[in-house]
Amino acid sequence: TAAGVPDVQTFDTRAIQELDAAHFLHPFTDHAALRDKGARVIVRGQGVYLWDSEGRQLIDGMSGLWCVNVGYGRTSISQAVYRQMETLPFYNSFFNTTNVPAVHLAAELVALAPPQFSHVFLTGSGSEANDTIVRMVRRYWDILGQPERQVIISRQNAYHGSTMAGASLGGMAGMHAQGGLPIPGIRHIGQPHYAEQGQGMSENAFGLVAAAWLEEEILALGADKVAAFIGEPVQGAGGVIIPPATYWPEVQRICDKYGILLVADEVICGFGRLGTWFGSELMGMRPDLISFAKGVTSGYVPLGGVLVGKRVAHALVEQGGDFHHGFTYSGHPVACAAALENLRILRAERLVEKVALETGPHLKAAFNQLATHPLVGHAESCGMMAGLNLVRVKGATAHACVPFARALHVGMLCRGHMFDNGVIMRAVGDRMIVAPPLVMTRAEIDDMAARIWDCLDLTLADVKARGWM
Ligand code: PMP
Repeated sequence: TAAGVPDVQTFDTRAIQELDAAHFLHPFTDHAALRDKGARVIVRGQGVYLWDSEGRQLIDGMSGLWCVNVGYGRTSISQAVYRQMETLPFYNSFFNTTNVPAVHLAAELVALAPPQFSHVFLTGSGSEANDTIVRMVRRYWDILGQPERQVIISRQNAYHGSTMAGASLGGMAGMHAQGGLPIPGIRHIGQPHYAEQGQGMSENAFGLVAAAWLEEEILALGADKVAAFIGEPVQGAGGVIIPPATYWPEVQRICDKYGILLVADEVICGFGRLGTWFGSELMGMRPDLISFAKGVTSGYVPLGGVLVGKRVAHALVEQGGDFHHGFTYSGHPVACAAALENLRILRAERLVEKVALETGPHLKAAFNQLATHPLVGHAESCGMMAGLNLVRVKGATAHACVPFARALHVGMLCRGHMFDNGVIMRAVGDRMIVAPPLVMTRAEIDDMAARIWDCLDLTLADVKARGWM
């Protein structure tokens, strides 16, 4: 993972941008605005660094899109993929057939997962994993003779993917406003967002209040109508929202009380992000189902899936007969070969322990230091995920800070400075977030934090020049 500068090819950026604007529709993008600006063209990655088509180096604070856990340029993964492609590039697992990498991966994932898990269903993405979960939990209750248990409870500002069911489970108002979402049978409760909603309470007291919203919703619907509750251990795309320590144990207690399945969406938190193999282990959750993707292959090739606990697996396997569900790429041998090598690297380099004991605490210290910047209200982190809030007036606590007017888009201004100065950080409103590759060293964290500080200075100067502060 050395940050040695590789031989970076440069390109005719303008020509690529023109072709891009003419033909390539991007996810979650205002294309007219992108056409005017021109997309940044990323051409190479090594370790935690990326290079663009002009040869400029960037430190990747976002692991691509929360996924490149082992960093870029791992030739052992590309070799594993190549070997598998030469041997068997594809075969399906529909018609009483299987393939060796898929079987080994399923066994390996079950061995890594908490003890209640026995089976795995493989998909091509996190969205497909969550779609699978919607069908699987409803099927589970059908098999148990309680088909009226249909409703899945989720949370506002959750992100669970972009397919019809994934976007419905998610709690993003902008997504629900397009395409007739959510689908029926999905309900959303408030999120455990202490800085926004915990005014006047201790963090732990607020955690119990936020968990009680679940019980209120269950009682309003009738427990016999509720199939499952789904949540990200730490909300990612919503802005790295770290719940109070009391939240998940209380949610677990409520799910147990009413017999409701608990689903952990570990698409981001899985595979070491929080310093444990699965985020639910850190949070005191005992989920029945886990959706995963991203870090399982470090994004080298697409793969996702659902870890299925014994409670659901028993019904599906012993009682359920045919489950009419699956994808061409369920158990894709090449993706599974990439995952096996990726998991080997995570284990061999002890990256999960490293996040828990070394780099996670170092990232926390770096963000605590960034929180002393005059533009920063407060900062938080959990493992290799961190966020800081840009505020107009600093206060002693998160609740005492005064935010900027939303319409000023100070976060986007800040993100622009970050990009222009070689650091990739994401803006969710005025919250700036990172989720770096798990291989990021302490020195690289310091490099990233120094660049962030400089860009906070540039943003502060802008904000003052515009008279916003
Ligand atoms: N769940 C969570 C928590 C996610 O963060 C994401 C993607 N960012 C998804 C599901 C969807 O995964 P995919 O984009 O692979 O469909």
